[in-house]
Amino acid sequence: MTKPVNSTYGVSLWRSIRVLWPALKSQVSIRVLNGNRTSFWNDNWLGNGALKDLFSDIYALAHHQQRSIAKMWSPQGWELILRRDLNDWEISRMAEFYKQLDDFTGTQNGDDTLRWQGHSSGKFSVNAAYKMINQPTPQVTNWPWKHIWKTKIPCKVACFSWLLAKEAVLTHENLKKRNWTMCSRCFLCEKEVETVGHLFLHCRITDQLWKIFINLRGIAWTMPRKITEALFSWEAAGAGADDISRWKMVPACIWWAIWKERNSRCFENSSNTMQEIKLNCIKLFLFGVTRSTQRILYLS
Ligand SMILES: [Zn+2]
Repeated sequence: MTKPVNSTYGVSLWRSIRVLWPALKSQVSIRVLNGNRTSFWNDNWLGNGALKDLFSDIYALAHHQQRSIAKMWSPQGWELILRRDLNDWEISRMAEFYKQLDDFTGTQNGDDTLRWQGHSSGKFSVNAAYKMINQPTPQVTNWPWKHIWKTKIPCKVACFSWLLAKEAVLTHENLKKRNWTMCSRCFLCEKEVETVGHLFLHCRITDQLWKIFINLRGIAWTMPRKITEALFSWEAAGAGADDISRWKMVPACIWWAIWKERNSRCFENSSNTMQEIKLNCIKLFLFGVTRSTQRILYLS
């Protein structure tokens, strides 16, 4: 196997494939027959990891750490040679070690073969590997993809929300992470440091946009710390309402309006009044509402 790809150069396709290797490797064990090609300490032949990792304390005491199973096994049993006698407190650990080896019944004729643990047959298949790698993890389950993509807003606005949820929008905070040197200040309120959380959730200008919709519904809502939390929390606040699909468009409309305003202040040196910013946000929201209504009409 090639070394991990660490540089920013090279073929990104290979880099993507290479990062999957540790997950695949963890599912590969060895079915031991003659034991010639299997390292007693270093290979995963027990199915739950290499002995040098499972029993690193005993590995440290062992001679012949590179020996194959064929050389470690004799008809009388395992030939484990230690560098020194065991202390009393190490005996129970050694018993545990031998217990792990209990299932091994001896070497047989035939070459050792690889066994893929991702499938009951022991044979590797791309299908089984794909399913294993794509098992939902808690992190993926908690990713608000529905809140972003299952709304009726324009695609470019949804894409922006997605970037924002990944905290990949080029605010001052993120430019600094890329080693840009700058004096960071929010272009809207000109008081706080420009972070994703501040600009899109907590800035007093942004707050006024949120309040338009919160007041319309007459609810109390506490602003979360992060964009992803805001998406979950916003949907929960609108749960059960008849217009939930419209409600779900609101965060993206606010964020797009704020980002447009921020960029026009940053790059064009022109700014809108608070009323105009509110109007831009509402116009985008109504555009989304019209699109969803038209779609319903076409379908009916
Ligand atoms: Zn601000």
